[in-house]
Amino acid sequence: MSIVRLEHVFKDYSLGEQKVQALMDITLNIEDGAFLAIAGPSGSGKSTLLNLIGCIDTPSSGKIFINGQDVSGQTPDDLSDLRARTIGFIFQTFNLLPVLSAEENVEYPLLQFKELSGTERRNRVAKYLSIVGLSKFTNHRPNQLSGGQRQRVAIARALATQSKIVLADEPTANLDHKTGEGILQLMKDINGNFKTTFIFSTHDWRVMAMANRLVRIEDGQLATQDVTEEEKLAMVIERRNTSGNVLSQRADQSGTDGIQM
Ligand code: ADP
Ligand code: MG
Repeated sequence: MSIVRLEHVFKDYSLGEQKVQALMDITLNIEDGAFLAIAGPSGSGKSTLLNLIGCIDTPSSGKIFINGQDVSGQTPDDLSDLRARTIGFIFQTFNLLPVLSAEENVEYPLLQFKELSGTERRNRVAKYLSIVGLSKFTNHRPNQLSGGQRQRVAIARALATQSKIVLADEPTANLDHKTGEGILQLMKDINGNFKTTFIFSTHDWRVMAMANRLVRIEDGQLATQDVTEEEKLAMVIERRNTSGNVLSQRADQSGTDGIQM
């Protein structure tokens, strides 16, 4: 089943008199349980595409279906419930609330779920902080955590609402490569264990190499619907030859407290 479907999606922005065509005629099907990378250079439309899938913004034309629901004609306000329960976000800059602890940051989006009791909420927070390997850091504020740990909090926050789709806009861009690979591996493990769909943008080829499916976007258009395994391998080898032996072993082996369903 497709969890996300885009049909002939266009997105224009107005900049004064000028019209910027950020996306042109995007048609894309994303299967439930995908681990999909959207690759493309800066300005190619990756964030715009993720914002449309995340119902933060609406297309200028075309249709978008999320989990079977046509969201194209609706305003971001109409879609707030779908967004809160179906979609989790991870950002390049982590976007944690600085005055809240790790635990409180993960709990925050759950406060709007009136059906959860306080105990259920706290249990859920503890469960997801454990999944991302941060059980010992629940009371730390963001400025008392490393970049990689902050991104783990953001992952726990995105998962705690039991989202079916996690959207991550360049999730490793502010992390060193080793930490970035650790974060990607964690996302991949969660994808494997929970079947959560992950859609992430990147221009880091190491991140692309870890995707199960890779699409390329250039100047607002899908340049390649599906980069094949052979093409991906060729890409990795080419990059490795130009930048030394960077196919290093898996980073951050200390990883998680143990992922369990
Ligand atoms: P990427 O995430 O791949 O770097 P973006 O989706 O942010 O690309 O941007 C795609 C294009 O749309 C760029 O040309 C960018 O300048 C333009 N753009 C993005 N957001 C806006 C906006 N709010 N107003 C005007 N132009 C925008
Ligand atoms: Mg962007």
